[in-house]
Amino acid sequence: MEIVDGDTLYGGYYTQDDIREVVAFAKDRGIDIIPEIDMPGHFLAAIENYDGISCFKQTGWGEVFSSPICPGKESALEFCKNVYSEVFKLFPYEYVHLGADEVDKTNWKKCPDCQKRMRENGLKTEEELQACGYNKASIHYTTDGSFPTPESELYAGPIKIDKTTNFSFRYFYPDGSKGDIFETKFIKGEYTPSKDTTLTNSGLKALWHEYRGSSCEEIEQAPLNGEYTAPGVAIPKEVKGNIGLVLTGYINVAEKDIYTFKLLSDDGSILYIDNEEVINNDGAHSSREVAGMKALDKGLHPIKVLYFDSNGGKLQLTVLNSKGENISETDNLYRSYLSFPGQGKFARPLGGDSTKGESLREGWLKVSTAAESCFRSPLVDKSASADTLREAWLRFFP
Ligand SMILES: [Zn+2]
Repeated sequence: MEIVDGDTLYGGYYTQDDIREVVAFAKDRGIDIIPEIDMPGHFLAAIENYDGISCFKQTGWGEVFSSPICPGKESALEFCKNVYSEVFKLFPYEYVHLGADEVDKTNWKKCPDCQKRMRENGLKTEEELQACGYNKASIHYTTDGSFPTPESELYAGPIKIDKTTNFSFRYFYPDGSKGDIFETKFIKGEYTPSKDTTLTNSGLKALWHEYRGSSCEEIEQAPLNGEYTAPGVAIPKEVKGNIGLVLTGYINVAEKDIYTFKLLSDDGSILYIDNEEVINNDGAHSSREVAGMKALDKGLHPIKVLYFDSNGGKLQLTVLNSKGENISETDNLYRSYLSFPGQGKFARPLGGDSTKGESLREGWLKVSTAAESCFRSPLVDKSASADTLREAWLRFFP
């Protein structure tokens, strides 16, 4: 890296001798250097410089991230194998890091090679193409706080539970290696009663604070830039630069149901409904989606979203009902109030039928996010011979 006129420029390269020198220098000080060769996403430099490793000649950025490797092409797998062979010789350690996060799958949907690979392997979605190596693995879980082992309960489909439960899930591979532990808590709750209040505005109230921090915690203490109306959980178009955003109002649900919320943000965000934290997606990070569920009575429920970003980010909330239908675009899903006397935001709760249900008794737990989680720090054992590198790679691609 080089600094020119105050800008840090990326680029350049290490020769093999440079790497050997760095590794030796670190070794003298008791430090191992574990290289991360991120794939199949984050591979733009290679894709722009070598033929036959991306889906199309087109390179550059897709909708969210740079175009990834084409997992449908043998030439792409061969290329990766060669890269790993070289890297393994230079770094004399037990592990390398595969990255494997932030994959834009737009091209995979259109690419004949990728689609052929999916057909041949019986994969229905591009997410399965990314995760397919895990099909060979089994998932085991515990609910008593202990670490899952291959002897723990096997996860074989949706689990029915009738009380608040802490789950720990873990992948186990046929070769005896294991993935990260993924923890999730399922809280048995009541349908929260709706509020009886007079709301006149569609959308949410948005307060923009001039904020440069790296968590949602202190947004509300930062100086206020202005107040806007947001159509829903989104960044109002007037809001730019250093963003600390506080969205408040009500979500208006048409049915008593168990709702799933998916909060996508770059950087951090937190969702509260009925003054309860439903999703915590806080911290400085790139585009990341976190899901949560809540049982709601029909009607209006206070909603609050905190969000921050320092450079043109992203904020989006997807709402699904228990049938899996996306209701995010429903008219007047979000409402806010006019603050003049007589229309308080702390109106009385509805009486009568605010059912104290065993609402989550029949709740289904799906661990679709577990696969994503395991992609965050996949480690591949490279103590085996170069011929098995392909096997390691095939954990990600068939
Ligand atoms: Zn492809």
